[in-house]
Amino acid sequence: MAFSLYVHIPFCLKRCIYCDFVSGIYSDEKADAYIKALKQEILNISHEIVLRKGSEHLSSLYIGGGTPTSLSAITLYDLINYIFQHLRFIENYEATIEANPGTLNKEKLQVIHSSGINRISLGIQSFNDGELRFLGRLHSSRDAEKAVDLARDAGFENIGIDLIYGIPGQDINEWEKTLKKTVRLKPKHISAYELTVVFGTALHEHIKAHKLKRLDEEKIIEMYKHTIDYLKAQGFLQYEISNFALPDYSCMHNLNYWDRGEYYGLGLGAHSLIGKKRFFNTDKFEHYIEALSENKSPVRETESVDNERALSEAMFLGLRKTYGINLKALSEMYGKEILKLYHDEISELQEAGLISIHGSSGNFGTMSSNQSDCSRETETHMKLTRKGILLSNEVFIKFL
Ligand code: SF4
Repeated sequence: MAFSLYVHIPFCLKRCIYCDFVSGIYSDEKADAYIKALKQEILNISHEIVLRKGSEHLSSLYIGGGTPTSLSAITLYDLINYIFQHLRFIENYEATIEANPGTLNKEKLQVIHSSGINRISLGIQSFNDGELRFLGRLHSSRDAEKAVDLARDAGFENIGIDLIYGIPGQDINEWEKTLKKTVRLKPKHISAYELTVVFGTALHEHIKAHKLKRLDEEKIIEMYKHTIDYLKAQGFLQYEISNFALPDYSCMHNLNYWDRGEYYGLGLGAHSLIGKKRFFNTDKFEHYIEALSENKSPVRETESVDNERALSEAMFLGLRKTYGINLKALSEMYGKEILKLYHDEISELQEAGLISIHGSSGNFGTMSSNQSDCSRETETHMKLTRKGILLSNEVFIKFL
């Protein structure tokens, strides 16, 4: 099973109207205090990893946010080097950084790449300037194109592009233009997320005040169906509900979450899953800085995850992957016969055409991070059907 590290950078240069991530506006002063605290947390965790995991090495690193690339080139250099100096990774590790095209330049990208980051995930969201302005993004479509070129010139071969569909006022033609433009830029990975309206965001306030109208559900489903079909025709495998990759370019870090593997999350508001425990760091900036300045843990809450809950999580997380879940392996791992335990739910979902069970080899899409042995394809798998992918929430709720 893989074992990952997430590092959170809680700064942005500007807030997007739909965002509810743990993030505030960047300042040099705050960034300096934060990186100092984060380095202390990295140091503490490096000792803990040796105690808990012995000689096991991390398989992936994901620096997310916020906007990690709101930090200066020198700060990023310092942070990334500190991570690699204090934590041990497997030889063919995957290390991703999330980047906002409005914060990139040649020097910064070269520094990031030469420090050991081998995958970049560009938060482009749209190639329509009106949509980008509406979302409150920092960059234009031209900046986004330039960012892809700059990343490639800096040595990044594994480039991912994140997109958002279902934007108020968007129509299928505009979405199609964004998809086509994205594919023309030749990324290895594309994430396409439906715009969600989260309570407390500026977007939610506008909708509540009737200043904006959500897009109709049918239009959103049409866009999603089109995304799946178009990207498949362009050679991208849909390996998860919102994620598409060229062969061998699935994101190993995210696959570890969906496989319910172990991970450490460092930084403000980050959480970890280690053994039977989940830890949550404080999401209050001052508390985080204060705790680490006194060399105390920033963990605000710890919860124990019992076997039943762990299995339920493994079911709905695993079903997000188009590969589905290996029923035999899960039954063995959790000591429960899944087909018996969830008999009624599985029968109902099968009758509704939302899931299918395969007893022999088939096209299961991209393998999981811990399922590289192709012989496993001959074992019994359960996965979402196309209808199930479109109505996935109806499936997940059955296993909660
Ligand atoms: S750049 Fe990302 S994290 Fe920052 S406000 Fe926008 S969506 Fe949120």
